[in-house]
Amino acid sequence: MIQIQPSTHPASAEERAQRMTNPGFGRIFTDHMVVVPYKEGEGWGKGVLKAYGPIEMDPAASVLHYGQAIFEGFKAYKQQDGSIATFRPEANSRRFNTSAARLAMPDLPEAIFLEAAKALITQDQAWVPGAVGESLYMRPLMIGTEAALGVRPSNEYLFILMASPSGAYFPAGVKPVTVWISDDYVRAAPGGTGFAKCAGNYAASLVAQHQAKGEGCDQVVWLDAVTRNYIEEMGGMNMFFVYQENGVTTIATPELTGTLLPGITRDSLLQLARELGYRAEERKITVDEWRAAIKSGRMTEVFACGTAAVITPVGHVKSKRGEWSINKGETGPVAARLREALLNLQHGLAPDTHGWMKKIVG
Ligand SMILES: *Cc1c(COP(=O)(O)O)cnc(C)c1O
Repeated sequence: MIQIQPSTHPASAEERAQRMTNPGFGRIFTDHMVVVPYKEGEGWGKGVLKAYGPIEMDPAASVLHYGQAIFEGFKAYKQQDGSIATFRPEANSRRFNTSAARLAMPDLPEAIFLEAAKALITQDQAWVPGAVGESLYMRPLMIGTEAALGVRPSNEYLFILMASPSGAYFPAGVKPVTVWISDDYVRAAPGGTGFAKCAGNYAASLVAQHQAKGEGCDQVVWLDAVTRNYIEEMGGMNMFFVYQENGVTTIATPELTGTLLPGITRDSLLQLARELGYRAEERKITVDEWRAAIKSGRMTEVFACGTAAVITPVGHVKSKRGEWSINKGETGPVAARLREALLNLQHGLAPDTHGWMKKIVG
């Protein structure tokens, strides 16, 4: 059971309203957070919901030196009837534990993960924005906190759940992005941590993102580490390529090889696409195929997907291998239709035939 210790200094209604105007992504946080400690031999301890604020750690805490840190991201959405529901949180709980196992961190029972979410969303429900496309972004994380400099798994951990009201992830909205295909850096290699949502993957990606910015691009496209031919992901999102052939629409996404992060949005879109009458496939896609299929007109759209930004179209591609544009740099109809279908489902505007929505409040 999570012990509830409400903040003695929650934001006033005016302050909250002011902070929730144009919240952007991940910049403002609600009044509370949930913290659950773990000790080897004792397991997970008593969880507490308390005022959001700094946590104290020993400077020798292992996360600060050897990077045992994993995280997740899912969202709570206002429904039409005023209730609040989260989207596939059990899938995030499962992936959290897959990441934990890769980093030799302890398994967190799904019951604790879901109870923490329910406690925090219930307590801070006034922070859930109402408009379609807006949500309360939930950020769970786990870090190694034992004070010891020996290189081995930490004996102590902290699970933390925080919540951040969010508007559109990309400030420019669903305007297509320009991407830089990274030939100099890779995100993940076979046997590495590509399938895990660990902090280190992001740390190692930042220099490539910086390079992309320098090339006038918004995001990096990652290639496989071994052949540098196969497309893997875009920044922290999975990718889809749309083909139109003989009246058939196909969406194709790079298959999960162990170096890609298995996105829950990716999985959801594969299912939704088939219901909308598209063919959906998971396979290997090369940079050469991308360029050739755009040139021949077979490929009509490209987009990336993830919890934070939902669907982001790709309008232009730059790389050391050449440059090309997709759909004249405009958002295409398939990306728009899938985005609407997913958002409608998440906000309760379309029936939840998959049992993906988990009601939390109301
Ligand atoms: C989180 C993440 C995604 C998207 O996963 P979702 O479950 O759809 O949010 C894709 N790629 C990377 C590298 C990620 O970290």
